[in-house]
Amino acid sequence: MARWTADGDSFRFRAGRPSLDLCSTLLWRHREPVEQLRDPADLARWLCAAGLCGDGARATPEQLASARALREAGYRLFGRHLAGRAPDAADIAVVNATAAHPDRFPQLTPSGGVRWSAGEPVAAALATVARDCIDVLTGPLADRLRECAAPDCAFLFVDTSRPGTRRWCAQNRCGNRQHVRDHRARRSPEGDGP
Ligand SMILES: [Zn+2]
Repeated sequence: MARWTADGDSFRFRAGRPSLDLCSTLLWRHREPVEQLRDPADLARWLCAAGLCGDGARATPEQLASARALREAGYRLFGRHLAGRAPDAADIAVVNATAAHPDRFPQLTPSGGVRWSAGEPVAAALATVARDCIDVLTGPLADRLRECAAPDCAFLFVDTSRPGTRRWCAQNRCGNRQHVRDHRARRSPEGDGP
């Protein structure tokens, strides 16, 4: 199962929520954004890596456009939620329309296991993502939505820690980078310097 784009960049699944991880397919939003979903095959790979589609899934250019529209509508909705602002009606319409597609359904296998099936695998996978977006915004963890505290990282996550004090999308990534920055700042009070 490929977890990277055609040019070898890895997908990030740090939030464990498909609607938030989809937002992270546009890297470095606060700097110069890097698009990871450049063609339909990228979308199929991402959905497969997210566990939402089988290996053989094929996406169309229209589905890529839908996925990007869902991603950006979701990102704006999450941002407004974090800022305590009312959601935009156009963004709500995008999420609702995507969520209305038939979802995947479970089927028993001959050995008694389960496999997920769908008439239209990519549309069903995007519906799952849209439904997750609605759950993040309205479910029991809605007040635990966070943006990573690293100033250059725009990744979103749901803080499931008991005290609710998680700051980083990933401690071993942004947490460590901030640790290095703090260390440098302590050593040279004038700033980073050359
Ligand atoms: Zn981060």
